[in-house]
Amino acid sequence: MNPRVRFAPSPTGPLHIGGVRTALYNYLFAKQHGGTFILRIEDTDQTRFVPGTEEYIVEAFDWLGFAFDEGVNVGGNYGPYKQSERKPLYKQYAQQLIDDEWAYYAFDTPDQLDAKRKEYEAGKKNFQYDCTTRLAMTNSLSLSKEETEKRIASGEPFVVRFKFPENEEILVNDLIRGEVRINSNLLDDKVLFKSDGMPTYHLANIVDDHLMEITHVIRGEEWLPSAPLHVMLYRAFQWNAPAFAHLPLLLKPDGNGKLSKRDGDRLGFPVFPLQWTNPETQETSSGYREMGYLPDTVINILALLGWNPGTEQEILSLDELIKLFSLDKISKSGAKFDPEKAKWFNHQYIQKQPVAELAKALDSQLKEHKIIAPLKKVEWAVVMIRERVNFLTEFWEQGHFLFEEPESYDEQVVKKRWKENTPDQLHGILNILSSIIPFDKVKAHDEVVAAIQQNEWNLGQVMNCLRLSLVGAAKGPDLFEIIKFIGVEETGKRVEKAIEKLTMNG
Ligand code: GLU
Repeated sequence: MNPRVRFAPSPTGPLHIGGVRTALYNYLFAKQHGGTFILRIEDTDQTRFVPGTEEYIVEAFDWLGFAFDEGVNVGGNYGPYKQSERKPLYKQYAQQLIDDEWAYYAFDTPDQLDAKRKEYEAGKKNFQYDCTTRLAMTNSLSLSKEETEKRIASGEPFVVRFKFPENEEILVNDLIRGEVRINSNLLDDKVLFKSDGMPTYHLANIVDDHLMEITHVIRGEEWLPSAPLHVMLYRAFQWNAPAFAHLPLLLKPDGNGKLSKRDGDRLGFPVFPLQWTNPETQETSSGYREMGYLPDTVINILALLGWNPGTEQEILSLDELIKLFSLDKISKSGAKFDPEKAKWFNHQYIQKQPVAELAKALDSQLKEHKIIAPLKKVEWAVVMIRERVNFLTEFWEQGHFLFEEPESYDEQVVKKRWKENTPDQLHGILNILSSIIPFDKVKAHDEVVAAIQQNEWNLGQVMNCLRLSLVGAAKGPDLFEIIKFIGVEETGKRVEKAIEKLTMNG
């Protein structure tokens, strides 16, 4: 089997992480089976088009690092891959359905449909355009052939609607949910072709999946209600239907409802892969990339939201995921997004990341602060501080003192630790440090500790004051490693500066 699968977003705004997960599952499935992964842009609804979305989608997948084999961005033998560029193609299929009596012209104006809805509401009923109501409406089933032709010839706007057969059990075979059955009487005669000459999502989606020889449709659960119509369309065209797999919803952290586009910044974590600025309102929504997440983290988190390998292993690389993924281990119930877990994953991935990659992040943060440092030093700093870093964006915060002297000193530490004899003690320590040539971290530690003991000084107090002088706070990696990094001379300068500032204050 060489499956052909597609990710088919509509360019109606930035890509939600639920969409990224759908794409990921399609990708894993395709790669595992030596198949083809396609990006198709479904932009038939011009009223919902948001400029910049398509570029955003392509950039997001570039960042995540999983490539499409065919699609808007890469081309392929089944193009064009953007539905608006395929416009001339769909009409004949709508015509075919009309000719075969699977569809009909409908002339009802928006006002008339509205009036109908209101009339039903007044009787506490819901109006649905279906087998029970269609003959009371204005369409080619209720009008004579001549009247229909006359209206079309005179240019009267029309839509084409699907004609569901009466009282038929429609079966959708879903790879995740099993058999889903629904009676056709419950379904409305969906519009397939609009008065603007464009197909709707339903028609274009089926025609394209057929023409692009899609074998598996793997998509979000929100499309399950459309699946019976899609199954019927395949039957009407006498085409083989692809296999369907509807993925469970991503839920809010508390499990109460679907994780929506709005939830992210409200709940304090991103729901988009990249930051997005709404072109109309200029409102910005945060993205995983800008928040300092690694693409591997995002892939790993999303892979496990709705699927698991059936083992305890949680850290899974893309290659491992490709090997382990299977549609039958996807759960039917929604998966709760856990922001704390996301942070944990990112911490783990930062520890696994090649130093050179992390150095790029620190280097650009240094440059933002107008600091140019040799690559070797940047990499060394990364090794020292990565353990304390959860997000790429935190390298500066956790390691700035390796590249600049402190401007201020944590007041609480000063109050607790800085004593009258501190300057003398620190001078003593500086003497020891400068006597060790070449500098050796272990030797320095041992000699400093020995001197403190000999003088009966308080070890914690002295060490904390030394750290305070170098870092500005009681935090950071191993003190003697910091001294080695900045050098004994710089250590001396920082200690003198601290003595001057803190003694003056005192
Ligand atoms: N264009 C649909 C969307 O935006 C695709 C649904 C499908 O995969 O069939 O999600």
